[in-house]
Order: sequence, then C-alpha cells, then structure tokens
Amino acid sequence: MRAIAATTLVLAVSNCTAHPQAATGKEARLESCRYDVAVAKARPLTLDVTAECAGRGFAAFSANEPELLPHLREVRDLEGRLLQRDGARYRLPDSGRAGLRYRVDLDAIAASAQSFDVALRSGDTLIAPVSTWLLRPEPPGADTRVLVSVRSLPGVDFATGLTPAGEGFELGAHEIRVGTYSAFGTLARSRVELPGPLALDEASATRARIEVVVADGPLDVERAALERWIVDSATAVARFWRGFPVPRALLVVLPVTGRSGVLFGKVLPESAPGIVVMVGERSDRAALSRDWILVHELFHLGFPSFVAEGKWLDEGLATYYEPIIRARAGMKTEEAVWEEFSRAMPQGLPALTGAGLDGATEYREVYWGGALVCLLADVEARRRTRGRTGLEHGLVEVLRRGGHASEVWSLSDTIATIDAALKAPILAELARRYGQRGGPVDLAALWRALGVRRVDGGVQLRDDAPLAHVRRAIVAGVP
Ligand SMILES: [Zn+2]
Repeated sequence: MRAIAATTLVLAVSNCTAHPQAATGKEARLESCRYDVAVAKARPLTLDVTAECAGRGFAAFSANEPELLPHLREVRDLEGRLLQRDGARYRLPDSGRAGLRYRVDLDAIAASAQSFDVALRSGDTLIAPVSTWLLRPEPPGADTRVLVSVRSLPGVDFATGLTPAGEGFELGAHEIRVGTYSAFGTLARSRVELPGPLALDEASATRARIEVVVADGPLDVERAALERWIVDSATAVARFWRGFPVPRALLVVLPVTGRSGVLFGKVLPESAPGIVVMVGERSDRAALSRDWILVHELFHLGFPSFVAEGKWLDEGLATYYEPIIRARAGMKTEEAVWEEFSRAMPQGLPALTGAGLDGATEYREVYWGGALVCLLADVEARRRTRGRTGLEHGLVEVLRRGGHASEVWSLSDTIATIDAALKAPILAELARRYGQRGGPVDLAALWRALGVRRVDGGVQLRDDAPLAHVRRAIVAGVP
C-alpha cells in the first residue's frame, strides 16, 4: 500500500490560509531553513532540534503529527524565550530571529503511537518519519529549501530516506509534512546498487542506490537470504521500469516477533521515498521467495503520487504489475499469473459495475477493481498493436517525464500522458466508463478471448483463443 496524505494536506492548506500575514504586511517569502538535530540521549531517544529560517512574512512553526504535541519540551525562540502553543502551532514573536528550538522525546511518542507511521520502537531501533519530529514553518513556500543536519551519539546510528546534501540532507519546506522514514539506534545496514532511472533504455550510466536498514529484532532467516530477496525483488522491478525508477530509496526491514512471512509494507511518497516492510521472525528462505509485498511497494516508486484522487489507478497498477513482474523474473509461472487474475479480479466488479472506482473505499474493490481496469487497458493497447505496445509503455513515458513517486501529478495529466504514448485515449475512456459511475463488464468474455479457462485448482491457457497472443505478450513483455 501507499500513504495518502490527503487529510494532512487539507489541514496544512487551511492552516496556511488562516495564518495572519506578518506585521509588515508584505507577501510571505520564506527563502531557506536550516535544521540542526542532535541526539541528546539514547534512551529515551531524545532529540534537540534548532530551526533557523531566512525570509519574511512567516511567523509560526507547526506540528504535522498530533502525537508529537504532548512530548515537545522547552520550545523557545532563538533568543531563549519560551513559546506558547496555539493548537498545533507555535507563533514567533514579532521581533527576533526567525527560528526556534525544541526537545522531543521520540520514545514517549512511540510508546503511545506504536506505529511506524508515527514512531515505533523495535529493540534498540526506533523508526519515525521525519514528518513526526520536524516542526514545519508556515507558510512553507513552494520552493523553500531546507537543510537538515543530524548529529548523533556514539552507538546511536541514524538512517533516513531524505536526500543527502553536503554533510546532511535536504528537502523542500513543503515536503516536511510528508518527510520520509528515518531510523535511530542499532541498525544493520547495507546497500543495493542497481542501474538507475531509465538506464536500461537509454545510454545512461546512472546508478540507483537502495539503503537497506534491518531494525533490531529477532529474525531466523540468515542475512544473506534476506539480502538476496531484496536484490531479486529490486532487480525485477528495475527491469520493468527500465532501470530502478528513483536514484535513491530507504528500505527498512522491521522484524515481527513470533510471526512468519512478509506481513505488510508501505511506501511514503511525495518526497524522497522510504519503505517499511514487516518480516516475521519465523520467515525462512521459502517464505521470502513467495512474497509479493516488496515488489508491490518497490513498483510504486516508479509512478507519480496523487493527492485525494486516483487511488484505484495507483494501487490498481501495483496490484496488476506485481505478479507480471515476478513472472518475468522467473518467480512465478504464466499460469499462476492468470490463475490469480481470474480468481481475484471479480472482487473489483462491485465498484466497476456499481458506483464507480473514484468513490470506492473497500480495499479489494480499489486494488482489484483498479487492476481490472489496467488489464482492460493493457489488452486494448496490445490488441491494437499485435501485442507490441502495452499499458507499460505509457507508464514508462510518465516516468521519462519525471513522474516518479517523489512527484505529485494530477490523475488527468497522468492518464493523458499514458494515452499519448499509447496513441489512443484508451485509459481516459476506461476512467470515464468506470470512474465516476459504473458500467457493464463482461469478464467471462474477456477470459474466453484471452484463452484463460478456470479448471479444478487452476487455469488452463488456450493458444487457440483469439487474443492468446495478447495474453502471452502481457506476461512476457516485449524486449
Ligand atoms: Zn500499494
């Protein structure tokens, strides 16, 4: 799955519009900010943060995460005066430098939140997104750069998905509210290097890097097998996207005591990307080789982020292409792909034939309904081109235009870019037919045309079906 920050965004926007202009009456203009973060104590994990900004017309810092508020201490302006809290916001006095300092107890937040989306402790590791522990300036400014330096204590390692810059990291001020995963404490770290964005299609020597962090916790599987699983999953995804789709990503493996298998994964998009994937303590090599979650999450990195729209396309694409990507990498058979599609896609029918995908919230309807639309689009694109051009060619064009997970695009621009690459309004037509309201779907006729016949315990693939060549091209891809 993938985080959707719609609620946060709405709050952020309303905060901005409600915020009074500075006393000067001039237009707010925030030029740059610098955050110095020091780990003051290992247990409880305590950060001292100093933020200093250049610019005019902004007068407050706000918390993204309500769970942070009870655990903020000593919030002072840069002259040392205590600041009073007003809701989630600390207003700066009219005089003085534009900045503040504060202390935050991440262990206290983890104890109450117990979620890696806010803060979570696992043994000697604490995971918390940047959005939890950085207060953000208001209004943030569309192009305000923020530099973050993190100074830790001996024995307390630090890893983050933020983009490295000089001795620290950088992001846009508007990205603080979606700032990605970070980890503190005991971290087993490694790096996976792959051909970078579009390097497999273009004469490019770019390399991409996945920073892998295994959080403290019990894991039966040996480290080499864990690394193999990550490398194989990332390589399979990179092959689909013609190179790993982003230059850099953080991947945190979170062990889960007493469980088996890969249990859950999530990517934080809209900024430099980070992924957390939960792996059961009792997982063995076979359990990892059966996993689909990591490929699903890594796939998301190659597609733009939507805000408050298009979840069916975002999740539908990841749901549709994950088994295809794994089949192309030899992790599952062509039969297994069509067995899964023919078994699972009917779960999406209530949204397609009922109220439409745009308003669907039930996850099977969103994920499999979206995947079914992707299949319909892929079949149509390949039918028109004797199998040569598929939906994925439209997706690669979006990526070529910079549309990866760190970027927010609109659903309509994304669909228009895909259709332009396919040279036909295929996806727009399907979005119109199944988005705002439902329409008929003859799934039985589709399977018949593709030559997919369900039999006891599986499927039989028929090569005499009219679209058998389309079915084969969908799974095999075209070199
Ligand atoms: Zn997903």
